[in-house]
Amino acid sequence: MKISQAVENVCTIFASTTQKQNPEKSSVSKIIYLKDTDCTIKSQASLSAFTSYRVGGSAEWYVAPRNLEALQASVEYAKEQGLPVTILGAGSNLLVSDRGLPGLVISTRHLRHNNFDPQTGQLTVAAGESIPGLAWEAAKLGWQGLEWAVGIPGTVGGAVVMNAGAHNSCIADMLVSARVLSPDGTLETLTPTQIGYGYRTSSLQSGDSSTHGGCQRIVTQATFQLQPGIDPAQVLAVTKQHKQHRLATQPYNFPSCGSVFRNPAPYAAGWLIEQTGLKGYQIGGAQVALLHANFIVNRGGAKANDIFCLIRYIQQQVKERWSIYLQPEVKMMGEFQAAG
Ligand SMILES: Cc1cc2nc3c(=O)[nH]c(=O)nc-3n(C[C@H](O)[C@H](O)[C@H](O)COP(=O)(O)OP(=O)(O)OC[C@H]3O[C@@H](n4cnc5c(N)ncnc54)[C@H](O)[C@@H]3O)c2cc1C
Repeated sequence: MKISQAVENVCTIFASTTQKQNPEKSSVSKIIYLKDTDCTIKSQASLSAFTSYRVGGSAEWYVAPRNLEALQASVEYAKEQGLPVTILGAGSNLLVSDRGLPGLVISTRHLRHNNFDPQTGQLTVAAGESIPGLAWEAAKLGWQGLEWAVGIPGTVGGAVVMNAGAHNSCIADMLVSARVLSPDGTLETLTPTQIGYGYRTSSLQSGDSSTHGGCQRIVTQATFQLQPGIDPAQVLAVTKQHKQHRLATQPYNFPSCGSVFRNPAPYAAGWLIEQTGLKGYQIGGAQVALLHANFIVNRGGAKANDIFCLIRYIQQQVKERWSIYLQPEVKMMGEFQAAG
């Protein structure tokens, strides 16, 4: 069923003519208002501003719900329309194709609330809350446990799905439970065991957005166990130390997605790439970072496809030299063109 055919039942549609980069070329962008919510679905929304690489094309349809009801309505709408769904957190572990993404992209960035419960030491937070923001807030309150996460520029939802980690700690160590919305609209509360955590992996990653025609499970909220009652100065000092260490050892001055590859134990991916002589190697605007070889940075004007080709080139060179296949940690979304 086409969007325009179904809108009468669930929403109103508004079409406007917008002048994009090329004023000669005007394109019609549409806005759909989901009934009984304050939620608008926009067509042809550029995604580059919503990814830390600052690259990527447009979402066919884009929505950023502000509460659970609006999120459920968005998922329901996509189901009715047969649209594939892609979930976007802070976009800090994503490479979105220059050609953009089909279907509905749901951003969790406006799902915000947090509750520090001093009785239990538990922090319950909505999926769109910022991980570094929470790390600083916890430190100021004298709650221990999130100091390690200060340099991870993602959301709670992305961190729960990716099992984000640093400084020998990770989400799986501190997660009490996650609230998850299934494609059929049901909400369930999952424990870490049910989520099935491994190194930078979880069962929530399977059935990712690349499976067109479907919708992955969506983390709406998470509860973490922290330790309150510590001297805030002490927690702040450790948090600052971690932040400074990151700034000194990783290239935060250029857009990136953090580590591109998983570490193939017992090796560090960055060490293998550096030993292969690839530090500084560049394709278009994408470069193997000089400071840390497991980072690819956008030196300015990079295309998503430059980054994709550099990922493939690194994999090929490391395989040739070490017989090791580097598995990407970054999630690649949409269509890419390998270099001829
Ligand atoms: C400078 C820099 C440093 C970094 N350092 C680290 C580090 O030290 N350790 C580390 O682990 N990572 C690191 N990262 C990578 C990244 O920040 C983490 O993977 C982070 O957890 C991703 O969160 P996000 O909200 O940006 O998710 P996104 O990148 O938006 O999404 C990642 C995946 O999770 C899915 N997803 C996101 N939100 C939800 C949700 N609510 N429900 C269901 N699925 C969802 C997406 O569909 C996608 O498959 C770094 C990135 C940068 C740019």
